[in-house]
Amino acid sequence: MSIDIQALEAALVSGESRGLAKALTLIESRRPEHRLLAGKLLSAIYPKTGRANRIGITGSPGVGKSTFIEALGKFFLEQGHRLAVLAIDPSSPRSHGSILGDKTRMEELSVNPNCFIRPSPSGLSLGGVARRTRECVLLCEAAGYDTIIIETVGVGQSETLVSSMVDAFVFLQLPNAGDQLQGIKKGILELADLVVVTKADGAFEQAARRAVVDHELALHYMQPDPDRLPVRVMSCSAVEKKGLREIYVTLLGNLKTLETDGRLQKRRRQQREEWFDSELQDQLMDLLLRDPNFKKDTQTLKTKVTGGSLSPTEAAQQAISSLQLKGLQGVPRF
Ligand code: GDP
Repeated sequence: MSIDIQALEAALVSGESRGLAKALTLIESRRPEHRLLAGKLLSAIYPKTGRANRIGITGSPGVGKSTFIEALGKFFLEQGHRLAVLAIDPSSPRSHGSILGDKTRMEELSVNPNCFIRPSPSGLSLGGVARRTRECVLLCEAAGYDTIIIETVGVGQSETLVSSMVDAFVFLQLPNAGDQLQGIKKGILELADLVVVTKADGAFEQAARRAVVDHELALHYMQPDPDRLPVRVMSCSAVEKKGLREIYVTLLGNLKTLETDGRLQKRRRQQREEWFDSELQDQLMDLLLRDPNFKKDTQTLKTKVTGGSLSPTEAAQQAISSLQLKGLQGVPRF
């Protein structure tokens, strides 16, 4: 494809949905020349990014994530926001499975012109998915979406990644006892800014009330983080649309407070630093693996390592030292 970056930037910033779709195709391409152009596009739009509220949402399968995001998302849209919902599915590219589910999710949101929904990029490692999602956040912000929801499902690693790219993290919990302790054991609650007990209706209503108190007690024993506000616990029924306004007001109110006292900017600074570090590692690996000699050398070393005749540490050292001898000349620019 021939790509005019200036035209693409103009289409994206004008809010045209085709502009966003095209830009996404570009950043999701793995061809080196497209990565180069994607970098140029991201630089061009960079000054127009960073203004959205970035919200992470997680919870185990069946907790009610899609129902909750649909209900809360509709609430945001009713208040005049433009919303993007991006997913990070931690299922491995090898299993070809999907933990978040292949079923059509959030049907009502998906037809709203002010809402953009992007499923998890497929066929990539979790690190690769995170890389694309971060770039996707920037594109959505440049395209005028002021609220970005990043959804993931409860496996520790994906939550840590989402936490490194959002301003607030909402942790959904079922209204049955015991669940909250499990959350703390996994260390995941430490990443949460807001805990929401779902399905607080009908037969579950009382259990949900109890679960809120249990969580508050459990959180009471956790070390407060001076860089964040105290974790709030709330309940909601996405089906009966109860508790959504309170969650909306709490989320936006907290973000305003953090912005006013500078903690939001601090969090974003740390996130940019982490992103740079991991991007550097990824790009270096990409660069090296494109060098046919390096690839051949590492393949030979890998055979020795898997056969047990060479230790992984020694093998990595050999790969690096052969690289130092040759220098980086001849390696195609990425
Ligand atoms: P996900 O797997 O976390 O995305 O969960 P879903 O949103 O698909 O919901 C799982 C099940 O819980 C579905 O059968 C929903 O109808 C049900 N559910 C979701 N939210 C609520 C709620 O607020 N109240 C009740 N009673 N059921 C709910």
